[in-house]
Order: sequence, then C-alpha cells, then structure tokens
Amino acid sequence: MSFQFIKALPSPEQMKALVPVPESVRKAKEERDAMIRKVFTGESDKFLVIIGPCSADNEDAVLDYVTRLAGVQEKVQDKLILVPRIYTNKPRTTGMGYKGIVHQPDPEGKPDLEAGLIAMRKMHIHAIEASGLTSADEMLYPANWSYVSDFLSYVAIGARSVENQQHRLTVSGLDIPAGMKNPTSGDLSVMINSIIAAQHSHTFIYRSSEYRTTGNPLAHAVLRGATNKHGNNIPNYHYEDLELLLAKYAETTLVNPAAIVDTNHSNSDKQFDQQPRIAREIMHSRIYDPRVHNLVKGLMIESYLVEGCQKIGTGTHVYGKSITDPCLGWEDSEKLIDEIAELA
Ligand code: PEP
Ligand code: MN
Repeated sequence: MSFQFIKALPSPEQMKALVPVPESVRKAKEERDAMIRKVFTGESDKFLVIIGPCSADNEDAVLDYVTRLAGVQEKVQDKLILVPRIYTNKPRTTGMGYKGIVHQPDPEGKPDLEAGLIAMRKMHIHAIEASGLTSADEMLYPANWSYVSDFLSYVAIGARSVENQQHRLTVSGLDIPAGMKNPTSGDLSVMINSIIAAQHSHTFIYRSSEYRTTGNPLAHAVLRGATNKHGNNIPNYHYEDLELLLAKYAETTLVNPAAIVDTNHSNSDKQFDQQPRIAREIMHSRIYDPRVHNLVKGLMIESYLVEGCQKIGTGTHVYGKSITDPCLGWEDSEKLIDEIAELA
C-alpha cells in the first residue's frame, strides 16, 4: 500500500468541543460578519484591509501582530475594517517546504496534523480574543473548512486552487465572503467562472455526506498578478486591469461585483517594499473613477513584525519575520494603513 494509515483525526465536532469558541469570539464574529457583508453588498462604504503575514507560523508573534493591529483599527475605524491574515495552510509551488501550522505546529519539526489542528484553532481564537478582530485564512483544503467555520470572517481561494471544482462547490455553501483569486496564468475568465460557480447552489459530496448549498452571494474576485511562460511576473492592479475586470463582470449576472487587490505576490514581483506604492496607485484609481471605487472593496497586504523573510532550518530564527513570502515590516505597515485611511 502506498498510502500508509497514520491515525484517525478528531472530527470537526470533536475539535470544536476540544478547543471551543468563547462567547466573546462568537459575538465578535457575528458583529464583524455583518459589518463586512455590508461592504460587499454596497450598504457600507468602508474599505477592507486584509493584512498580516504570508503564513501565521508562530502564535506569540501573531498575537503580538494582531494586538498592534487592534490599536490601529481604533484610529481608522470610520474608514477601514482591518482583517488579520492568519494563514494556516500554505500552498507550495512544488509541494515542498513548510505547509503551514496545521501540518507543522513546529515549523522545524515533523508533520503532526492533530497537534496542528489544535494549534491552528488556538491561534485563531486567541488572536480574536486579544484583538477583537476576526480573521482571514486560505481554504487550501475544502474538507478542513469544518474546523474553522465557527470563527473565520473571510476566506481566500488561492491562485493554484481556484480552478478546482471542490473548492468552488464548497465556497457555494459558505456564509462569509470568499475571495476567488485569479489563477497564476492570469486568465480572468477562470476567476469569473469560479465566482459564477460559487454564487450558485450545488449538490455534492462533502466529508462523506451529500449536501445541497445555497450559493454564496459574497464570492468575489481577488487580483494577485500573473506569471507568463517565461516565469516573469505580470501585474494586474493597474487602472486598465480594473477596467477589464469591470467589463468582465458586466458580461455576467453576478451579484455584488467586487474585487480585492493583493499588493504582493505577482503584483509586486514579491518586492514586498513595493506594496505601499501599489496600494497608493489602487487608491488613486478609486478616486479617479467612481466605477473603480465601487468595484475595489479592499486590499490584501503581506505584513509582519519584521520586514523581509528568512529560511527555516538554519539554526537562527528572527521572531516575527516571515518564513514564506517576504512581508512589509510593522512600522511601514502602520504608516501604510494610515495612508489608505486618508485615501479611502
Ligand atoms: C498567499 O496569499 O500567501 C498566496 C499563496 O497567494 P496566491 O494563491 O495568490 O499565490
Ligand atoms: Mn504569500
């Protein structure tokens, strides 16, 4: 047998009983979900900033980060809704390397999925308790949605997953906004098709049962840039790209047409320090054209305590520095949030 059975894992119900959501977190989610929903339906003109490390690899550093973010949220609450990026599953280009805290609660240790699921729930829940800010995560494995459904406020479907049927069907049953990223090829019609799939009802197998979903009217586009056949990165955050997305949406009957723009990944060519410049350009495009203002509901920014990134397994570890994609450091991030609030 090529598949070697290791062990059965606690069910989502068992895991939710083992690491329960306290009443304060349940309430924060209810209030923030309602606030965030209104951004996508157009009832609120607040602007979303989904911000945090590429991967949430360490609970202490993440708590430190979200506590600082909560201080900033208070300053900008009239204009912005800050959503911490607490990403606990990482898609890897070749499948190799750190796969996120769910796989490796100790980034330098061996995979331990049961301990990882517990560490993941604790980190998210503690972060919400510490900051009052409910978080975003990537839904890399659709079956794992049941382990996070009681606290997340935003879900992203990554560039490598957005063409996958199970991801699209699962999103159609979520009651929170789901950002469908453009694929790494950059083909916007793939992303639009995934939003169409996600906004419709489906009947399918999920975790060994048959379900029917309602369709998710909050499924929307995330522009993250693309890669060409030579491996060069091609941005898609410029005014012309936003106009093209408007035209693509206009060809459909999709509800709540919306976009979040990712300022890192192929949009910045992973030059993390270009994110403020990219963010400013997008904010100016919103000011220039009311149609773009209505389309672009927020930004996604990769940011951590210390700027840049580091390799794991070298014997030294810098606290609060990314072990996956390079991130903007804290001081620059705080400055950038203030600037976004002024331009929103
Ligand atoms: C990420 O958000 O860290 C990420 C992996 O994004 P993408 O799917 O756009 O590559
Ligand atoms: Mn990343």
